[in-house]
Amino acid sequence: MADTVKNAVEQAVDGVKNLAVNNNNENEQPKPQQAKKEKKKKGADSESGRPLEMDPPPQYIADRNVIFDKVKAEQDVWIARQPREDITVTLASGDTRIGKAWELTPAQIARDISKSLYERTVVARVDGELWDLDRPFEKSSKLELLDFDHPEGKKVFWHSSAHILGEACERHYGCSLCIGPPVSDGFYYEMALPDGGAVQAADYKPLEKVAEKAIKEKQTFERLTLTKQQLLDMFAYNKYKQHIISDKIPDGTSTTVYRCGPLIDLCRGPHIPHAGRIKAFQIMKVCQVSTHPYDQPLIFHPELRIIFPW
Ligand SMILES: [Zn+2]
Repeated sequence: MADTVKNAVEQAVDGVKNLAVNNNNENEQPKPQQAKKEKKKKGADSESGRPLEMDPPPQYIADRNVIFDKVKAEQDVWIARQPREDITVTLASGDTRIGKAWELTPAQIARDISKSLYERTVVARVDGELWDLDRPFEKSSKLELLDFDHPEGKKVFWHSSAHILGEACERHYGCSLCIGPPVSDGFYYEMALPDGGAVQAADYKPLEKVAEKAIKEKQTFERLTLTKQQLLDMFAYNKYKQHIISDKIPDGTSTTVYRCGPLIDLCRGPHIPHAGRIKAFQIMKVCQVSTHPYDQPLIFHPELRIIFPW
């Protein structure tokens, strides 16, 4: 894959990261204490008046899954056909492990060394490339195991947490997600609510409850490569994703999506192995901004960020 393609989504994320996080107090939503005084609407599951989760769920969740499952089945067949050559994996210590290409994973090596090493490892780095712990090696490689104390490990951890936030927001609002990058002190997700609605402080607890469900279920992250056309089909319902795909991914090329629970998102990854690795989850702040790097031809107002400064 050409570098320009490999970096396409990363550039999209960087484009937004470079936007200063809006700390202007006048743009903040009411504090939770103020929101608690709002009267709970009859029949609602939360003070915001919305049910905890949309019922039925947004149709796009099922539509995305149909495409994902079809292409995943094809990819699994392709992987099954790859030759299982003997490979050697060299750890940072200089120790080596022998295994089969397309079968041996960084997670297996970490577990073989010790359970505690596996549990504290957030992500692998294979020949310098960040790599999901459950993604098989494709050839003889050098392996590093990065924990949360490593800057890259921390970034992957927070970025993975943003997917869980995105999932909670889709399940709660049926919103259109844009992107959810890590920032220096946490992560956020940008989204537009149906009918131009706004995230309220009263939504914090319901969103946290839905996120806690995903964490409790230990939802796994699944990686899949899709062509540009498959991506356009998968995200046909979301004008922001359509814009990113059209603008950042050259015609005739491919990139990856990740599925975690019901959320499938355009993403280069990698991620933590499963949502159960997330031990604490709290929404700290919501910002509403009216400018965006993808401001043409999109209209991003209201466009919202939920920010998690840990
Ligand atoms: Zn991701």
